Amino acid sequence: MLKQWSIAEVCALVNGQCHAPDPELRIAAIATDSRKVGAGDLYVALSGERFNGHDFIAAAAEQGAVAALVDQDVAVDGIALIRVADCLTALGELAGANRAVFTGPVISVTGSAGKTSVKQLMSSVLSVKYNTWMTQGNLNNHIGAPLSLLAINKQHEAAVIELGASGLGEIGYTAKWVKPQVGIITNAAEAHIEGFGSLEGIVQTKGELLDFIQPGGTAVLNADDVFYSQWAQRAQALKQISFGLSESADVRATDISADLTGCRFMLHLAGESVQVTLPLLGLHNVRNALAVAAAASAIGMTPTEIAQGLAAAEAVGGRLQWVKGQAGQRILNDAYNANPASMKAAVDVLKNATSSWLVIGDMAELGSDELALHADVGRYAREQEIKHLIATGPRCQQATEAFGAGAHWFATKEEVVRFLQQKTSDQDVILVKGSRSAGMDQVVHALRGNT
Ligand code: ATP
Ligand code: MG
Repeated sequence: MLKQWSIAEVCALVNGQCHAPDPELRIAAIATDSRKVGAGDLYVALSGERFNGHDFIAAAAEQGAVAALVDQDVAVDGIALIRVADCLTALGELAGANRAVFTGPVISVTGSAGKTSVKQLMSSVLSVKYNTWMTQGNLNNHIGAPLSLLAINKQHEAAVIELGASGLGEIGYTAKWVKPQVGIITNAAEAHIEGFGSLEGIVQTKGELLDFIQPGGTAVLNADDVFYSQWAQRAQALKQISFGLSESADVRATDISADLTGCRFMLHLAGESVQVTLPLLGLHNVRNALAVAAAASAIGMTPTEIAQGLAAAEAVGGRLQWVKGQAGQRILNDAYNANPASMKAAVDVLKNATSSWLVIGDMAELGSDELALHADVGRYAREQEIKHLIATGPRCQQATEAFGAGAHWFATKEEVVRFLQQKTSDQDVILVKGSRSAGMDQVVHALRGNT
């Protein structure tokens, strides 16, 4: 937090009723998880489907919390209570209040895919010039986003906030606390469609970010996305910078080359061109870099500074991230998640290896075409001359069949690991991928020699 609020000040900010022996006591930080409460903190008692935060007030007090924000009747001694109508709203209001006193640039990112990747890349670029705070991990929802804003403190000079949603209205809800100078929408696709009703619902929800960009701020939009013009329309009152591979994009890449060390391209923005070496794999990361370059230029960073920040980028864990196997194998950990498009993108990266092993688990949530889509992956890997396909999971049998000779299917991940331990060495590149539910990170973990 930028200001050390007293309990009385918190009360005023959230329009609460204060029951505190010492309302002038200043709080150290704000926590919603009673296990992570520190001495002097304000504990916010949130209630979810599986838990009621009000049950943990005493535990928070034991951990050193000096005050609790509550929206139910509770009888707990030894801790100041601030009673509000709704704790979640109060958390947002406090986040908004902290954000309101931050004077540095705030950049926010949403979209169906690439949010965390863009967030991390954005932070790498901003860090060339600013001490930068970013959303930690994937804390991008109605609780995580406010907490990310509340963690901005005096040391920070810029902030990047990731916003995710699983239903209509959710980006609007968090974006209204963030009020960024620059808002990036990476893309829209049919990911986790259930809560939105339709792809149109997804497009609308991502677009909610645009409604909360500060007046005079900039919308960074994907010129290659089919929904580009819909968002551009919604962002009419703002400055706009488009990015993409289309010639019409304001920020573009040409002369792209990609291998197992990363991507190189010529970045064109604001009438200038600069050579970029991006140490991240996969063409989607060129698109992510373009989004970041557009946002950085919106706040006045130069092409040279942007290229410097992109060159310093590090892969996000589990997204085409290099790790070393116990036998010296070069492993590309892409186990964070998978869908048919990202499987093919992974094959495109792996095909640059001489001795290539594609190790896959099932892709989830694909509906009635799921078997055909798994077969497609196998066929594509064969066409791209991947040497070996190793698969587990019932749907992946289709992939091994489509791949043909050189493919092996195993019933368990343990068997996959044993097979790879026998067959691979430091001559091999192994790419591991599957939907989050497939838990293919366990294969990576085991190959690295961890139990
Ligand atoms: P989540 O919804 O889980 O928070 P996210 O939007 O933060 O996901 P990332 O974690 O950055 O996305 O990336 C997840 C996967 O999406 C990557 O492993 C990659 O396969 C794919 N991806 C990343 N960037 C893009 C992009 N610009 N276009 C398409 N796919 C992408
Ligand atoms: Mg994410």
